[in-house]
Amino acid sequence: MTAAADPFDGAPLGAEPAAHARALAELRRARESAEAANEAKTRYLVAVSHEIRSPLNVIYGYAQLLERDESLSGAEAGTIIRRSAEHVTNLVEGLLEISRIESGVLTIRQDLVDLRALLQHVVDMFRMQASAKGLTLTLDVRDRLPEQVKADEKRLRQILINLVSNAIKYTPAGQVTLAVGYRSQVADIAVIDTGIGIPPEDLERVFEPFDRGSLAAAQRQPGIGLGLAITRVLARVLGGDVAVTSTPGAGSTFRFRAMLPSPATPARASGRRGRIIGYEGPRRTVLVIDDDPAQRHILRALLGGLGFVVHAAADGTDGIARAAEVAPDIVLLDIQMPGLNGWQVAERLRAAHGAALRIVMVSADAHAFRAGGDGRSSHDAFVTKPVELDRLVALVGTQLGLCWEEAEPVTPAAPPAPAPPGAGLPPEAAPLLACVREFAEVGHVRGVERAIEDLAGAIPAAGALAAVLRRQLGDFDLRALLGTLDDATR
Ligand code: ADP
Repeated sequence: MTAAADPFDGAPLGAEPAAHARALAELRRARESAEAANEAKTRYLVAVSHEIRSPLNVIYGYAQLLERDESLSGAEAGTIIRRSAEHVTNLVEGLLEISRIESGVLTIRQDLVDLRALLQHVVDMFRMQASAKGLTLTLDVRDRLPEQVKADEKRLRQILINLVSNAIKYTPAGQVTLAVGYRSQVADIAVIDTGIGIPPEDLERVFEPFDRGSLAAAQRQPGIGLGLAITRVLARVLGGDVAVTSTPGAGSTFRFRAMLPSPATPARASGRRGRIIGYEGPRRTVLVIDDDPAQRHILRALLGGLGFVVHAAADGTDGIARAAEVAPDIVLLDIQMPGLNGWQVAERLRAAHGAALRIVMVSADAHAFRAGGDGRSSHDAFVTKPVELDRLVALVGTQLGLCWEEAEPVTPAAPPAPAPPGAGLPPEAAPLLACVREFAEVGHVRGVERAIEDLAGAIPAAGALAAVLRRQLGDFDLRALLGTLDDATR
C-alpha cells in the first residue's frame, strides 16, 4: 500500500489559523467523547445495581423461607441460593469485563453450553416467584436440542433471566412459557406470557434505557427500565437479537434468536463438574502459592482428588524454595501476596526452571489481567478468582498436555478453551502481530493497515485473521481489533 501524505506533516506556515481551528475542533470532539463515555459509565453502574438486585431478591426470599418453614428442603433451597449467588458473581465479573473492554480487551466466550440444562436452571430459579403469584411457569422444548451449543454462557443466561423475570413481573394471572426451538444452528427462544401486554406504540421504546412504556399498570411494578436495554445489547453481543410482539391485555412474546452452533464432535476434556476422575500417564506435581489458606485448601483438595501431587506455599519466598525442592510441573500462583508479589515470583521461577515449568497466575483483580503464553511473559496463563474449578482443571490439562480419564458413562463435555481466530499461527507471526498492536495502540490507522498487509503477505495461515482485522479497521473499531489480537496471541 502506498502511504498518503499525513495532513499534519509539514503544514505550511501560512496555514496556522487553519491548524488552530483544527486543533480546537479536535479538542471539542475529545471533550464530547469524554462526556459521552462518562454518561455511559453512569448508565452502566445503575444497570449493574439493577441486575444484582434480582438474584439477591431470590436469595433473600429463600433465606426467609428457610427461617420460617422447617419442611422446606434445605438442599433444594441451597441449590437455588447457590445459583443465584453464582449469578451475582458473574455480574461482578461482567463489570470487570467492561473495564477490560474499555482497555481494549474484549472477549466473547465460546463456552460449550448444555442449552436444555441452562433453560431448566432459569426455570427452576423462577419457579417459586411464579407460583407465589399463582402463575404456571413451563419449559417447552419444541425441537431436538443438540447436547451442546457454542455460546457465551453468562451472557446467554443473563438474557433469559431478564426476559423471564419481566414476564413474571408483568403477568398478573395465567402462565409464562419458555419455549425453545433449534433449527439450522439457530436457537429461537421465546418467553411467552399472558400478561398486561405492550401497546403497539411502545414496542420499540421499551428497549430504550430507562423507558418503562406508557402503561400505568407497568409503571406500578418496581423497575427502572434497564432490563430490556441490557438484554438487547447482550443479544447483539452474542450476534443475535431480541424482538417483541404483543397484544395489549392478552400477553407478550419476547423472542431471542441467535446462531448458537453445535460443535461437530463434542470435545473430550473437562467442562462439567465431577466427570473427570484422573489423567493418563505419570503423576504430575502442582505447587500452589497463595497466602489464602482457604484457596490453598480448595486447590489441594480438587487437584489431589484428580491424582496430582500437590504442594503448597503461603508466600513467594517459600514458594520459590519449595519449587527448588519438589520440581513441580505447574505452579498456580496468586498475584497479591505479602512480600514478593506473584509477578516477581513468576520471573524468578521462570529464570530458575525455564520454559518447561508452566506458570498460571491466579488473581482476584481482573485489572491485573495479562494473557501470557506469548513467549515474552514469565507466565503461561491467567485465571481470575473466584476460580471456576472446571475451568482451572481444563487449563491445567492444556498446560500439561494431559489426557483426562473420565467417569463412566463417558459423557462428552467442554474443551478447555476454543481456538481463537488466528490460533495455531507459526512463531514468525508474533513480531508481525506485535507490530499491528503497536500501531493500533497509538491509533495510527495507516500503520495498522500496512502491518496487517505485512502479516497477510508473510504468513499465509494468517489470512482469516487478517480479514477480521481489516474489517475491524474498516469500522475504525480499534478496541475490537486489539481484542482480536489478544485472542489470537493468547
Ligand atoms: P423494567 O422492568 O425495570 O421497567 P425493562 O427494560 O425490563 O425495565 O422493561 C421496560 C418496560 O417494558 C417495562 O417497564 C414494561 O413497561 C415493558 N415490559 C417489559 N417486559 C414486559 C412484559 N413481559 N409484558 C409487558 N410489558 C413488559
